[in-house]
Amino acid sequence: MTSPLSRRKKTVSHWSDIPFVTKPPLDILLCAPRGFCAGVVRAIDAVEKALILHGAPVYVRHEIVHNKYVVESLKRKGAVFVSELSQVPDATRPVIFSAHGVAKSVPAEADERKLFAIDATCPLVTKVHREAEVHHKRGRHILLVGHAGHPEVIGTMGQLPPGAITLIETLDDVATLEPPAGKPLAFVTQTTLSVDDTRGIVEALQQRFPELIAPHKEDICYATTNRQEAVKRVAPQVDALIVVGSPNSSNSQRLREVAERAGCPVARLVLRTDEIDWSVFGAIGSLGITAGASAPEVLVEEIIDAFAERYEVRVETVSTADENVFFPLPRELRDAPAAAE
Ligand code: SF4
Repeated sequence: MTSPLSRRKKTVSHWSDIPFVTKPPLDILLCAPRGFCAGVVRAIDAVEKALILHGAPVYVRHEIVHNKYVVESLKRKGAVFVSELSQVPDATRPVIFSAHGVAKSVPAEADERKLFAIDATCPLVTKVHREAEVHHKRGRHILLVGHAGHPEVIGTMGQLPPGAITLIETLDDVATLEPPAGKPLAFVTQTTLSVDDTRGIVEALQQRFPELIAPHKEDICYATTNRQEAVKRVAPQVDALIVVGSPNSSNSQRLREVAERAGCPVARLVLRTDEIDWSVFGAIGSLGITAGASAPEVLVEEIIDAFAERYEVRVETVSTADENVFFPLPRELRDAPAAAE
């Protein structure tokens, strides 16, 4: 027979089902540096300054940076995102090129249509463009280590005539590469790659082509390198790690991979709190958090708040580098007179 006591028993599957229970503890290790890099700050500032100086609408070709939250907030302020310049109906309005850089054909088309174009390409991407141009001028064939289809890769390949650059994505590409005969080889890379993967690919290239000419200074940018270093430090110490960022953000995807390879059992890319899978993150003792270079800090704070509702959180910052990089705005937006009221 069932006793009155056992009838009152309720199956408890999770601590959160128990009323008035103390929240379990959670140690959050915040990676530093994380989030916005100097190139992203410059690109967003460029759109905002253009809106202040010239009013809405300001057209932006492609996502200014790979983050939906940033794009939506700029839309609310009057930015209009287009995929091609042909969608800009009014040549008197500013049109801004994104931080990832564009093929030469894009500013050429803007010139032809006499558009008011402002280039917000990150200076560190422009540096790669210039390197590729110099190699080409010196008669070298260029190998670009990067991911097909990424806007930065499209922009870099588009600096030179078709055939001048070969894209290398994998070690297999290195093994099967048949470069044009009689030309010296040089390589450049996408700025947001995995430092470790790229090292492997470059070593394989150098083994096959000992005369390969390397960049004077690493093409993978300081922000990508620093964020990956911080994740490498934190990942082995935590039960799970969240990368705040967009699925189409290359540097965010690389951070997730770096965390997994550094020994973190669970590493997920999360754009907003509604994407947190609580069946995975609901019963952990420690959590690492970082953010891709295009993810604003407000989204990191939102994620911490979501965990604080379920856990007694203790937040500690783990810093592996100081960053003080700053890029001035594109020339058209510096010291420009404000639009008449
Ligand atoms: S991730 Fe690096 S290259 Fe890309 S915008 Fe930021 S600083 Fe520039």
